[in-house]
Amino acid sequence: MTQNTGSEKMHADDVVVLVDFDGTITEEDVGVLLLKQYSTTDWERLEARFARGEVDIQQNMQQQFSYVQHDAAALIEYARTVVTIRPGWQEFVRYCSATGLKLAVVSGGLDFYVHGLLPLSNPPPDVHSLLAVYSTDAGGQVTLPDADDGDGEPEGFKEAVVRRYRRRYSHVWFIGNGVSDRGAARVADRLWAVEPLLSWCCANDINASSFKTFDDVREEFKALLARTDG
Ligand SMILES: [Mg+2]
Repeated sequence: MTQNTGSEKMHADDVVVLVDFDGTITEEDVGVLLLKQYSTTDWERLEARFARGEVDIQQNMQQQFSYVQHDAAALIEYARTVVTIRPGWQEFVRYCSATGLKLAVVSGGLDFYVHGLLPLSNPPPDVHSLLAVYSTDAGGQVTLPDADDGDGEPEGFKEAVVRRYRRRYSHVWFIGNGVSDRGAARVADRLWAVEPLLSWCCANDINASSFKTFDDVREEFKALLARTDG
């Protein structure tokens, strides 16, 4: 991993900021909350397979949500009562917009709850997430979003998103928390992490800044970016 650790300042238009959703923008993992509440199977056994690398994120979410028989509207209604947005998110979105930083959400969660829980922002960040379609007999059917790179390389969904953004931005900054962020953490130029990703980074010799709120991240961004307002 290459990190700019010197005093050289970055220009905002060279940087894209990619942010995980579950457990990063939200304080809870929304997918886990929904599975705890509504799954009709031992979803933790399936999650353990994902953590061991035996299935990818799309396979994991497909298997887990095929055992959830409630539709998106019901799931969102429940999620809104239990999910907390990490403090500083809205200010962080406004800061990125005012500074000219490209901001996008990269989520291994499901599109309906990412869009349903993400606070309204102006401008809204781009969202890359898994897509869920519900049927009453088969539960959730989860698919990957259309990839626009088309080369079909067998890599993780989030690494693929990172690679697509690299075509336009020389520096990718990633903010995440979980197992599905490990691949992106390896290839990002700079990383902010909360647990359990933070401990995984320490164990794997990957540099990461810890944070509690998006105010913490915003303060570090200010120190990293060259001022363009004189
Ligand atoms: Mg997460």
